[in-house]
Amino acid sequence: MAEKNGLIAVIGPMASEIDYITDTIENKNIRRIGGWNFVSGTLGEKPVVAVRSFIGMANAAAATALLIENYSPRCVIIQGTCGGHNPKLHKGDIVIGESVIETCRLVTCQLKEGEGSRIDAANVIKAQIAHADTAENTDRIFCDRNLVDVAKTVPYSGGKLVTGCISSGDIWNREYDVISFMHRSRGSDCEEMEGFAVGQICSSFGVPFIDIRVLSNSELYDEAFDESLALNCQKFCVDFINRL
Ligand code: SAH
Repeated sequence: MAEKNGLIAVIGPMASEIDYITDTIENKNIRRIGGWNFVSGTLGEKPVVAVRSFIGMANAAAATALLIENYSPRCVIIQGTCGGHNPKLHKGDIVIGESVIETCRLVTCQLKEGEGSRIDAANVIKAQIAHADTAENTDRIFCDRNLVDVAKTVPYSGGKLVTGCISSGDIWNREYDVISFMHRSRGSDCEEMEGFAVGQICSSFGVPFIDIRVLSNSELYDEAFDESLALNCQKFCVDFINRL
């Protein structure tokens, strides 16, 4: 990780996933770039910049690129809510991402009329990390090891605290068999709609990143989406930032 006193960037897609953090920032400076408001200032002793990315992969990628280009953060934290894939996890549990994968960058198998859909038989297409003259192709992006190690030391009383694999994509999966497949075959512990896009752009710029998510729902247990749990994740991230 870059120098200790550099800016720490934190992203939350929805207002409910970033407002607590932006409200807690002191000495605030708000700068609008495109459709995004970047709120810089201090969180405790730490210089930070926070942004509501809005939902989805394209919004997350754009907000990340603008953050990096305009603020040169020493690391980027994407955080918020997610849905459970791992049957051991329930609402309120936090997943510290060790890696992120994509839910729907797929080439489906060739099926003829009337043969239906076999999403579980689709092949994963690797994403391209842009490096100007060349691309690095990958289906998994690793969160920064040092950030993960620090996150593991943050106390959390709202549920379990685990490390794992987070899936992202512009989809909200509600099919039990698909969720179960994502867990069994791809090792996914939960899903959301931004983390991989943030990781992909951070990788292009060589900026360390981490994805931290609270389970707001698990379709495996008919748990309904509870947006209010986003507060748990933000409080956890404020403690985390204090330790960086
Ligand atoms: N109130 C919104 C729902 C949230 S959209 C609406 O109806 O439009 C999804 C957001 O919640 C995304 O930012 C995503 O990262 C997160 N999320 C939480 N649980 C999710 C799940 N099970 N699947 C996909 N995204 C989920």
